[in-house]
Amino acid sequence: MTKQAQQTVLAAELPERGQPLAGGVFVTRYWLNGVERALVLPPDELSGPWGEYGIEIKGAGSYSDGEANTRAMAEAGSVIAVKALELDGFIPSCLEGQLLMAAKADGLVELREDRWHHLSTQRSANNAYIQNFHRGSAPMAKFEPGETFGRLTVTRWDSASSVQCICSCGTAFVGVAGNMRSGATQSCGCIRKEKNNHVTHGHTGSLTHKRWRSMRARCLNKNASNYPQYGGSGIGICAEWDDFERFLADMGECPGECFTLDREDGNKGYSPGNCRWATRVQQARNQSTNKLITFRGETLGLSEWAEKLGIKSQTIQNRLRKGWTVDEALGTTGDARSSRKSRAE
Ligand SMILES: [Zn+2]
Repeated sequence: MTKQAQQTVLAAELPERGQPLAGGVFVTRYWLNGVERALVLPPDELSGPWGEYGIEIKGAGSYSDGEANTRAMAEAGSVIAVKALELDGFIPSCLEGQLLMAAKADGLVELREDRWHHLSTQRSANNAYIQNFHRGSAPMAKFEPGETFGRLTVTRWDSASSVQCICSCGTAFVGVAGNMRSGATQSCGCIRKEKNNHVTHGHTGSLTHKRWRSMRARCLNKNASNYPQYGGSGIGICAEWDDFERFLADMGECPGECFTLDREDGNKGYSPGNCRWATRVQQARNQSTNKLITFRGETLGLSEWAEKLGIKSQTIQNRLRKGWTVDEALGTTGDARSSRKSRAE
């Protein structure tokens, strides 16, 4: 931001360049619109929201008159332009940016941030010209291959909306110049992804999280293939386990790929007291021994009934799953389909 010449100063009363003037540092004399002006650099630099992308600001395209540009920007709703005007200043144009750069190169002024700054001269609906106060490069909104912005390294520059980059994670990415310069874009998106994962629990994609998700699917998602044997059969999940963190705290990490979440009592739902990590072999044994069935006044495990009645335990399980009553499932011998059919008729 540059101080606006508020009052008239006699040329004879102007200090040397680089000396204090009107609360800032006198940069240089210059001519604008038929009037000679004193350019003053205020002690503070501004930063803030520039404006919206994709909107061309009419009247903010002057290469020389930063004050006119700043007023046009303020009218279009630019927060930083309003701020500058409130402080009796304006955002330098291309010309004024170069004058500042010359004063800096001459050692007359110091800038708080020795790097690129936006100028008030709008270059397109998406970008403004910049002044690189570090390299002193001409005020062109241009990227050089090899320039880095966060994790992004520029590989090719086509236009303000098409800056080809490679992210340090290896992903090719096309960035928007303004977003990259403002720091809004610093990666292909991988930083945000990492942050999100970290904020929640850092376990997304882990085996434990996968087991938690499948538990929730089979109990809660009516479209899940195994929902009928779980949620559909009244197997629920305790309320605390809506929260993955709680689930993890109660169960610990899943010990390995061959381990799944097992309920000790198959008739009860998923809760800390009824669950453990078990291998599939353990679970299969568990299911057949723990399923207690009362038939003809006697209560036995499913595998015991199978043995006693001479029916495969898998057959009994399948029948129960299909909705047969216990009497039907255990009382039917021989060809299940024909017995069932004749009974239905
Ligand atoms: Zn990345």
